[in-house]
Amino acid sequence: MILYMHDLDLPLSSVLQYLAESGELQRKNTTKTIVQITFISRPMIFQLAFTTRYTECRQKSRSATPWFGAYTELNRVVRVVIQRIMVAMNYDLAVIGAGIHGVTVARAAAERGYRVVVLEQFSGPAQGTSSKSSKLIHGGLRYLESGQIRLVRECLNERRRLLRQQPDLVKLVPFHIPVYRHTRRKTWMIAIGLNLYRLLGGKDFKHIKRRDWHKLDGLKTDGLKRVFRYWDAQTDDLRLTARIIDEAGRAGAQIHYGAYFRGAECTPQRCKISFELDGVLQTVNTAAIVNASGPWVNIVLEKFSPAIASLDIELVQGTHIVVPGRLRRGIYYLEAPHDQRAVFVMPWQGSTMIGTTETTYQGDPALARPLESEIRYLLETRNHYFEKPVERNEVIKSFAGLRVLPASNSNPFSRSRETVLHRDRKLPNVLSIYGGKLTSHHHTMVRVMKKLGLRKPKTRHSHS
Ligand SMILES: Cc1cc2nc3c(=O)[nH]c(=O)nc-3n(C[C@H](O)[C@H](O)[C@H](O)COP(=O)(O)OP(=O)(O)OC[C@H]3O[C@@H](n4cnc5c(N)ncnc54)[C@H](O)[C@@H]3O)c2cc1C
Repeated sequence: MILYMHDLDLPLSSVLQYLAESGELQRKNTTKTIVQITFISRPMIFQLAFTTRYTECRQKSRSATPWFGAYTELNRVVRVVIQRIMVAMNYDLAVIGAGIHGVTVARAAAERGYRVVVLEQFSGPAQGTSSKSSKLIHGGLRYLESGQIRLVRECLNERRRLLRQQPDLVKLVPFHIPVYRHTRRKTWMIAIGLNLYRLLGGKDFKHIKRRDWHKLDGLKTDGLKRVFRYWDAQTDDLRLTARIIDEAGRAGAQIHYGAYFRGAECTPQRCKISFELDGVLQTVNTAAIVNASGPWVNIVLEKFSPAIASLDIELVQGTHIVVPGRLRRGIYYLEAPHDQRAVFVMPWQGSTMIGTTETTYQGDPALARPLESEIRYLLETRNHYFEKPVERNEVIKSFAGLRVLPASNSNPFSRSRETVLHRDRKLPNVLSIYGGKLTSHHHTMVRVMKKLGLRKPKTRHSHS
């Protein structure tokens, strides 16, 4: 049977999903019919094993031919299904971006009963920054140097929560800070920092006895004065994000991969979003939008009508490299000899990951790639501290992510890492997330939901 759907412009996946899920298609006492639905508006034809109340239809049908009855019934079912799809095309919330921020907001809203759609340009979650981080769930000991005490306290609270809620994905790991004669941060400075860290919610710290230094994965001991050990946590950013989006999907969020946000026409009550899916332009209506597009945040904002003012930002690239060698004792927190920045040497999936750098970036965020100079800087830092050097040709892989930092003339290392939520007074229903931490994604979500008035479970009267 061929069904022509001439004037429909709906995502194919939605039609399939609704057909498959529809109770109408799962009645008992049925006979199987193959239905071919042809979408005239696009070059796509698919076949679906379709079950109708064929026998019942035949009895009811005035026509002598059983096929006519089945056809009528099929038409009715499809009409019901299409109507449902149309209703579902009106959302309470559209989230642009399936990075850690977008998926966390989508999950929270879907779990509260809101109709949520997520648009992600790539073919899966966390293909932007959220798979290119240092994979640390931490308060950020080094942020104490730039006085970001509130951020450190908030992140340490979040660390505690994540250790409890995701014990298989977020694990405490010992961090080692070696202090040499040449180290710029002196022993007493680090001890003060670690004490403050502990008071803000970190764990206790200690120093490793000299007789145990030889157990530290080949760390050079020449000129070594002290090795501090404290605790922070490590995760798998990609798996964490993927887990959250799975939960969002299970809670009812519609997730579209390969869906490129093209623009939105908004009033303070509603937005009509256009996006490209499988090369076809689609539209959805939504009451609110969260722009969680990470380093694309201002590119996405430019596509709104009326225009929305954006914040002045700078993209700062951070590169990591993965090299052979298994670290047995945990993470090493090193001071780069070149510029005294903090660089981590971490165990990662049976190898060693080293990062990160801070290089100002301009251009398309999708094209960010590790620079040769960054790779050499990381190798040089690692080799400065460990006995057995790693050569350039041993680098297994490298990747780069982009931080969204407030524009400033100051050094990126000392700039605020706070998450900024931004919206224009003209359009309070469109909220953009600037910057932020993997660690504090839950806290950011709570702030977003509060600002959009989505904290409470949906009632019949809210955001329809
Ligand atoms: C080098 C580096 C190291 C870091 N290390 C840590 C760390 O150890 N611990 C920590 O807590 N934090 C860390 N961070 C910060 C953390 O990784 C980020 O804050 C977080 O991943 C940002 O997530 P996001 O969801 O905002 O953005 P992203 O993960 O970048 O997601 C944005 C998504 O939007 C999509 N998108 C963009 N434009 C469109 C469009 N037009 N249509 C559809 N989709 C679109 C993108 O494809 C992307 O998937 C680090 C960051 C960097 C750069």
